[in-house]
Amino acid sequence: MTPQTTHVFHRHLHTTLPVAVSGRGVTITDSQGRQYIDASGGAAVSCLGHGHPDVLAAMHAQIDRIAYAHTSFFTTEVAEALADDLIAHAPTGMSHAYFVSGGSEAVEAALKMARQYFVEIGQPQRSHFIARRQSYHGNTLGALAVGGNQWRRAQFAPLLMDVTHVSPCYEYRDRRPDETAEQYGQRLVLELAQAIDRLGGENVIAFVAETVVGATAGALTPVPGYLKGVRDLCDRHGILLILDEVMCGMGRTGTLHACEQEGVVPDLMTIAKGLGGGYQPIGAVLAQKRIVDTFAKGSGLFQHGHTYLGHAVACAAALAVQQVIRRDDLLAACRRQGEGLANRLQQRLGEHPHVGDLRGRGLFRGIELVRDRATKTPFDPALRLHARIKREAMTRGLMVYPMGGTIDGQQGDHVLLAPPFTVSEADLDAIVDRLAQAIDAALA
Ligand code: PMP
Repeated sequence: MTPQTTHVFHRHLHTTLPVAVSGRGVTITDSQGRQYIDASGGAAVSCLGHGHPDVLAAMHAQIDRIAYAHTSFFTTEVAEALADDLIAHAPTGMSHAYFVSGGSEAVEAALKMARQYFVEIGQPQRSHFIARRQSYHGNTLGALAVGGNQWRRAQFAPLLMDVTHVSPCYEYRDRRPDETAEQYGQRLVLELAQAIDRLGGENVIAFVAETVVGATAGALTPVPGYLKGVRDLCDRHGILLILDEVMCGMGRTGTLHACEQEGVVPDLMTIAKGLGGGYQPIGAVLAQKRIVDTFAKGSGLFQHGHTYLGHAVACAAALAVQQVIRRDDLLAACRRQGEGLANRLQQRLGEHPHVGDLRGRGLFRGIELVRDRATKTPFDPALRLHARIKREAMTRGLMVYPMGGTIDGQQGDHVLLAPPFTVSEADLDAIVDRLAQAIDAALA
């Protein structure tokens, strides 16, 4: 296929992009025969790499049986098997998986589930959400409303729900020199407590947060105790905790769910991206039994639905991804290769004059770039350094996920790395080598 034959709207947007024709393992090949190491898993999606034979076989087998059966008429064996599998490995108390087609849909469903829960239990006055400034929860209106990315929200402002945004856990920029990590976490919890008090705890539906922030801020990890403090605070006010693990979940940080490392169990959790590994669009909300039970006792139905939810081929792909991850011990591989990636980044870029911070967990790593390391001053956003790095990386056969700095100077440009869990040592060498070259070329 040439660019001329692609979808018109797509062509209009992307005239200059190469055309991907095949993918195997960590490599994507374009129509000119150029190869790219997929060091970002697309957008932290391709956890098993491309063309994995076991996933393809499972999808082929399912499509031969049945591809699609609308959920108002049927469930399928494969959807039930996937739900069982996810629940068997979910945090304590989660009893149901609600399937959708992607991350934004999962967030929309979780927001509505939370709202409906309070209506069902006779607390309809709860109408506010609290979320965080550096966050991305998706591009549909509800998900955009809880998201904190000003650039994406700006034109849609009057249509978005009224959401209160508080500070994310952004140690590199916000932790004071005289504070321990724990004290910093406590300060953030206090800020949240003040926001809750202003709204009235009895009026708040949920606090929504990415366990590890991905797209907007490059793998921001929570300080120890912060999310536990958030959980306790939510419990004191009867507020639900929704953790969005669309990007950081499904093994990406080295445990199946990132919240396992925090010792925190959410009421609702959204997953997508690595769930289908890129083989099919799929997302899910994992929900606590007590929430789902209220629907059974009250209206009897969660008031939400999409045409393709529980799509059988998507479920087959996702189930196969989980089976391969367990069979090949890929969570351990993710932790091991993640350490290897972090060490290489530290060695090669740790002293770089324009690398402000290296952070992340597992194979979810962020690099924040700054003009001045001492003052942490970002580059002028007009330079679009992140876009230059992406371009320079692509010319060197490397895919990385870039994000711009903010005009208010609250963050610098950054690059996110999220390679498949099957990435080899040699791939890691090449990724860091090409990335370092791309950064220098972009800065030249
Ligand atoms: N939540 C998070 C944390 C995300 O990173 C994303 C996508 N980057 C979404 C939600 C939205 O997912 P999708 O693009 O599949 O709608």
